[in-house]
Amino acid sequence: MEQTLSIIKPDGVQKNIIGDIIRRFESEGLVIKALTMHQLTKGEAQGFYAVHKDRPFFESLTDFMSSGPVVIMVLQGIDAIHLNRKIMGATNFKEAEEGTIRSDHASSIEHNIVHGSDAPETAAWEIAYFFSNLDIMA
Ligand code: GDP
Repeated sequence: MEQTLSIIKPDGVQKNIIGDIIRRFESEGLVIKALTMHQLTKGEAQGFYAVHKDRPFFESLTDFMSSGPVVIMVLQGIDAIHLNRKIMGATNFKEAEEGTIRSDHASSIEHNIVHGSDAPETAAWEIAYFFSNLDIMA
């Protein structure tokens, strides 16, 4: 069993497709172990994406991520990190496999509906960024 952090970004919440996204996770066997809705401050978005602080899109990305509410979840399952990223599709929706969340819903490389951790170390760090152990169901 593995845990990963998932975020439905402001564009996903704005498009009213929270249910569609969660259905895709659940139908592939991922189980929600924590869930909250929150509007990130600019500082929280900058902290979360600190790894990208030198990238040209950092300013725009953190503006976008703090522009409206997001849904933040801990997903658990076998190979959850890889499975979640498979369900999401490639970062650039134009390269995302058909039937993935990003292929179906993203409108640009930045406005790509969902975030998912990319490795066990980042998953642990990202989960701890938003949740305490007490918030995560056994
Ligand atoms: P992810 O792990 O698939 O989310 O991709 P990355 O970690 O590489 O990038 C983080 C987020 O930054 C992506 O999900 C996009 O929202 C955004 N992003 C990535 N690459 C670009 C880019 O070239 N331009 C812009 N504007 N945003 C980008």
